[in-house]
Amino acid sequence: MNNTELWSKILTKIKNELSSLSFETWFQDTKLYSLNNGVAKIIVPMLLHKDHLRAKYKDLITSCFIEEIGETVELEFLIQEDIEEEEKEILSNVDTEDLANTLYEENEANNFESNLNKKYTFENFVVGNSNKFAHAAAVAVAENPGKMYNPLFIYGNSGLGKTHLMYAIGNYIEKHSNKRVLYITSETFINEFIDITRKNENKSDFDNISFFKKKYRDVDVLIVDDIQYLAKKEESQKEFFHTFNTLHNDEKQIIISSDRSPNDLNILQDRLRTRFSWGLSVNINPPDFDLKVAIYKKLIAAESINKQIPDNVIEYMASNIGTDIRSLIGSLTRLIAYSTMMGAEIDINLAIEALKEYINAGYSEKNDVSRIQKIVADYFKISIDDLKSKKRNANIAFPRQIAMYLCRKHTDESFPKIGIEFGGKDHSTVMHSCEKIEQEIKNNKSLADEIDKLEKNIHN
Ligand code: ADP
Ligand code: MG
Repeated sequence: MNNTELWSKILTKIKNELSSLSFETWFQDTKLYSLNNGVAKIIVPMLLHKDHLRAKYKDLITSCFIEEIGETVELEFLIQEDIEEEEKEILSNVDTEDLANTLYEENEANNFESNLNKKYTFENFVVGNSNKFAHAAAVAVAENPGKMYNPLFIYGNSGLGKTHLMYAIGNYIEKHSNKRVLYITSETFINEFIDITRKNENKSDFDNISFFKKKYRDVDVLIVDDIQYLAKKEESQKEFFHTFNTLHNDEKQIIISSDRSPNDLNILQDRLRTRFSWGLSVNINPPDFDLKVAIYKKLIAAESINKQIPDNVIEYMASNIGTDIRSLIGSLTRLIAYSTMMGAEIDINLAIEALKEYINAGYSEKNDVSRIQKIVADYFKISIDDLKSKKRNANIAFPRQIAMYLCRKHTDESFPKIGIEFGGKDHSTVMHSCEKIEQEIKNNKSLADEIDKLEKNIHN
């Protein structure tokens, strides 16, 4: 019997004891929130109910519990806000990353110097329709680095497994050969490059440059994650171009990922894009229902989870959650944490309860930059191209700043990513816009109202 069923039995009993006025006044909209270690937590609609129930109906409720479950309980009355506070506190102590870590068996590092994350392997990559082509290409490259597809270009939305696949290739190669594999994000590349060139301006150390070049050109396999951040970084692109050529000439494997296809990377120099198309480009699509179920099962099968999760719960989650795989892991973490915290078995009702915010939040995640751009452009009667342009007249620049601010607030995108989506603006421009609008909202009521209206549109 779950809490809902138990409580409805108890309510039936209480109803028999009371006038319908008292019953409706005091027991309507109450809920058994949890029954744990002899403590029953009951949610009531208002503060008033807390005191009244405690003072007048405690004994009645307790005796109903004894009849139903055969033991006495201590009663605690709570209003919804109390619960939310409590949940927030408990769930904020749950570290998603941490659980995700224990979900994947850590493989033993076989190479001290390697900077690969060992937990991402082919073994724990679940293959389905949406990623089987990318997976096959990755295996081919892992088995024949530098020979088959060079470069291998993997693209797709965030959270679909690009980084996982790239690490899997690297780990496989390290395990089966003596080849040197280097993993970097394009941001690391840019930062190191800028650092080096700055140092060199001071003429302090010419060796830095050659060290930098050596680091990247002296490897057998170079993995560059999230290449889209190279956008607009002309000097870094130039350097990367030379790195690429050197490696490619020497038949060294290059693996690149991006959130968009090489053709859509029109923010990169043409000559770099052309080179990307020399090899093989593969796309990872959002998971379908079957893949989601398979991934949930794989995660649950990991030994560290000693909870039973019925199939209908898995199916419920697979149909309601996740256009990406990161959110599948998040939802499972939450469900497990919730069940532990409530001391309750996982069933469909618990899952609905535990994940309701998750599922709602999922909807708002649909806010992407392009949707917000459209809302803002429509509102100010300008075009999306204007928003992405370099035009500086106030009737365009100001809406652009507002749009950047809203994108930052209502999507998970970083400043650099937003910059890219606005025609390749620098991240500092985005940051400045956000700060400016934030400041102005405080002092300018009519702007605050306008933002309010726009946000209503965004939430629709
Ligand atoms: P991306 O780099 O595309 O943003 P990640 O590779 O970081 O995505 O994947 C996000 C999370 O989902 C990681 O924890 C990863 O292990 C997991 N994941 C992605 N695809 C799969 C898959 N096919 N099987 C198992 N786990 C996956
Ligand atoms: Mg990634």
